[in-house]
Amino acid sequence: MKKSICVVCKKEKKGRRVEEDLYLEAIRKIKTRLGIAKNNTLVVCDDCIPKAKEKRRRFERTLATWAILATLLFVMLVVISQTLQSIFFSLVAAVVFILFSLLSYFPRVEEHGRKKG
Ligand SMILES: [Zn+2]
Repeated sequence: MKKSICVVCKKEKKGRRVEEDLYLEAIRKIKTRLGIAKNNTLVVCDDCIPKAKEKRRRFERTLATWAILATLLFVMLVVISQTLQSIFFSLVAAVVFILFSLLSYFPRVEEHGRKKG
């Protein structure tokens, strides 16, 4: 049977589900391949909702900041030295920036009355 685990306090609790996204899907695929997937349902319990929303806001801010930095770096390198190497380098930097922002990753909590399907 599937357990529902709160992603904030890690306790087995009922609560609102978190939205599946590319990041969660990727992690699940990796875990399934490694054979360590627990197949728990990820939720946020009522006690942790404010904390979860704050964490999600922080992640979205971080992601936006790194995205802007990556774009600026890309534009600068392309304008200054129009070589393939610099374009390649800025793409690598952009990926590194995105990985940095994923360090503070937190899933979005599903809102009531806004569910798909
Ligand atoms: Zn909790």
